[in-house]
Amino acid sequence: MMAMINAMEPIVKELFEDFQHSYPVSCTCEQCRLDIQVIALNRLQPKYVTSKMGEVYIKTLLLNTQLRSDVVRELAHAADLVGKNPHHA
Ligand SMILES: [Zn+2]
Repeated sequence: MMAMINAMEPIVKELFEDFQHSYPVSCTCEQCRLDIQVIALNRLQPKYVTSKMGEVYIKTLLLNTQLRSDVVRELAHAADLVGKNPHHA
């Protein structure tokens, strides 16, 4: 069955893997890692595609240096916010 996906979601997930090793993320628990990705996704323009064409489209987007830098900029912004105000004690 075909579905609709936001191509930015797997892209943010993928870029976050490298990001969290190169940026001083203050807490790397599951809650904070997800919060960072959710905040970044909400600030980035979504790119909806059908699941059928999604895989190729996502690979193409990952080669786009402007898009990568936009995602990393939003991840940094989100990591700073979550670091200052984590959703846990
Ligand atoms: Zn945490």
